[in-house]
Amino acid sequence: MTRIGIVGYGNLGRGVEIATKEADDMELVAVFTRRDPQNVSIISKDVPVLKVDDVEEWKDKIDVMILCGGSATDLPVQTPKFAQMFNVIDSFDTHARIPEHFANVDKSAKDNNKVAIISVGWDPGMFSLNRVYANAILPNGKDYTFWGKGVSQGHSDAIRRIKGVKNAKQYTIPVEDALEAVRSGKNPELTTRQKHTRECFVVLEEGADAKFVENEIKTMPNYFDEYNTTVHFISEEELLKNHSGMAHGGVVFRSGSTGLNHENKHIIEYSLKLDSNPEFTTSVLVAYARAAHRLANEGSFGCKTVLDIAPSYLCNMSGDELRAHLL
Ligand code: NDP
Repeated sequence: MTRIGIVGYGNLGRGVEIATKEADDMELVAVFTRRDPQNVSIISKDVPVLKVDDVEEWKDKIDVMILCGGSATDLPVQTPKFAQMFNVIDSFDTHARIPEHFANVDKSAKDNNKVAIISVGWDPGMFSLNRVYANAILPNGKDYTFWGKGVSQGHSDAIRRIKGVKNAKQYTIPVEDALEAVRSGKNPELTTRQKHTRECFVVLEEGADAKFVENEIKTMPNYFDEYNTTVHFISEEELLKNHSGMAHGGVVFRSGSTGLNHENKHIIEYSLKLDSNPEFTTSVLVAYARAAHRLANEGSFGCKTVLDIAPSYLCNMSGDELRAHLL
């Protein structure tokens, strides 16, 4: 049995709680929060919700702590800190900062004989694995990653910061023609604008200037200026009714060729269509928690990413069972 703890109870915290219920070999033993625990209501009535300051008392009672804080400011601090006391998993997704985060967490984990697996989820995570397998297999080729259709939290937040905006949701949508061109092996050169479009649903404050808001969105550097963007103004009721889901997904391709004259084409395509981004992400986190516990039992300490973990460590099956049923 792997005893699981959760730090931070937002969308991912709740998803980990649900995912541990599906795993026969996992037991959720405690949830830790920075808020007043009395104000944090979880699904399992028999699991305690505790102040994160009291976490040290649980050092010998938890095998793997799953860290569910945000990537922007929580995880860069929390993961190195908790890796001093626990084997940990996080979903850190700021791609450009992964090397720096890895180095910080690696030091904590090695100094304290702990296992840490960072940047677990779908991107980074399952998409990264597929990019690496595909690159290893088809050295002569091109990579493509498309995201969506799905909500981008960062882009939705950026719209909400514009004067006159009360609420907003932004969907990232892959361009169908671009997907088809890749799928058919044409190896197109695609600009940012040709790969994705952005669709925004915006609720205005009373008396706000719609033209001004639309222009601010469409010309926003880095976020929208390089994309074809559509803006819809809707009521708060409509936003809550039709746009509160957390569906997401995407496709990773490698389009390559082999043969003496590269005459034989090969397309590798890995696609995810997710009704719930947090519930899928946490299903991945829980599988990697199983691996972290096994690695800790073997004494393989330090920081790792999904690229360092053998697939058999993820599954609640013996080697014999895996070879008989899934190989
Ligand atoms: P949330 O904003 O829902 O939660 C983040 C933290 O905020 C929680 O741990 C919680 O900490 C705090 N919090 C949550 N709700 C409240 C509230 N009502 N009031 C005050 N504080 C609250 O983020 P998500 O769980 O959706 O996502 C976490 C991170 O996961 C994201 O930043 C993203 O980077 C990453 N992610 C990675 C993916 C991947 O593929 N690798 C995929 C999806 C997400 P506390 O309980 O301590 O207050």
